[in-house]
Amino acid sequence: MKITNISSEEYRWPRAKPITNGLHTYTHSELSFVKIETDEGVTGIGLGRGGAIALATIEKLKPELIGEDPINVERLWNKMWVPKLIGRRGMTTRAISSIDIGLWDIRAKVAGMPLYKMLGGFRDRVPTYVAGGYYEEGKGLKELAQEMEYNVEMGARAVKMKVGAVSTREDADRVKAVRDAVGPDVKVLVDANCAYRYYEAIQLAKRIEEHDVFWFEEPVAPDDYAGHRKLAQATSIPIASGENEYTRYGFRDLIAEEAVAVLNADAQIMGGVTEWMKVAALAQANHIDVAPHGAQEIHVHLVSAVPNGLILEFYSDTTNPMWGKIYRETLRINSDGTVSPPDVPGIGADPNYEALAPYRVA
Ligand SMILES: [Mg+2]
Repeated sequence: MKITNISSEEYRWPRAKPITNGLHTYTHSELSFVKIETDEGVTGIGLGRGGAIALATIEKLKPELIGEDPINVERLWNKMWVPKLIGRRGMTTRAISSIDIGLWDIRAKVAGMPLYKMLGGFRDRVPTYVAGGYYEEGKGLKELAQEMEYNVEMGARAVKMKVGAVSTREDADRVKAVRDAVGPDVKVLVDANCAYRYYEAIQLAKRIEEHDVFWFEEPVAPDDYAGHRKLAQATSIPIASGENEYTRYGFRDLIAEEAVAVLNADAQIMGGVTEWMKVAALAQANHIDVAPHGAQEIHVHLVSAVPNGLILEFYSDTTNPMWGKIYRETLRINSDGTVSPPDVPGIGADPNYEALAPYRVA
């Protein structure tokens, strides 16, 4: 089997209202696909992140891949990942990630099985949390509580909210409002998106510990490993981090700091499925769980595949106005609060090109 062509597309659509986390405000949603065609008629779809720079890198890598057998993922990953040529992290690694995801889609399609089964098939349903709880214009404690009640009605047994954009006292009030809204049996996660210095993160942790917080995500800058460690030593709340970490080498260093209980490795960012499985194994050897950040369409397979897949991040219609229209089939939350990977060969995320067409930007 040989790769005959690689192309990519990017889409961008506006949100009804901008959403804000600890550090950033988002007015639009973005999404890109990498299409890998072969001489045997099998096409792989890679789910991408990184916009124009990642797309340009894919074009640069293309000549290295045309004519290669797409099944040889280790060979192709190493061919693409030459630090002297494209760097060790950042957008270029995101480009490799999206191609690698497309290669795994081909692999699983050729094998005739869903990706999670091909990768190990540890289980066929995984716990999930609904991501949200952003800051928005006109959104007070009441509206935040309503959002969380809606998530629970939808079947969520765990919810995540943002912290870090207001004072730690105000955020502690927001966490209390969410805990009161969802009751004692639903997990509550908080995510600062790197907004704090380590001492501010400790101050917030002290204020919210009593609300039984499942994890405190990205409390400090991704490169502040020592800050993660100081916080972990000061609180009983487990620390999650890693959505801005790259490759097995970055995660090796993060694990070595003994600061993080849960790794949020994102296959679309850190190196694709090939690299993600290595990080999951590294975590397993250190008695650490993985709970990937980002797109549920790919990560439902990865969390299902390995024994230390803790929980899946799930974005719903509260965070994306195009939710339910992006793919031919949309992942749903099961009645027991879990999500199951689609039982079709490959990743099973077929873009709904007609619905997306008005938003194509590249
Ligand atoms: Mg996060």
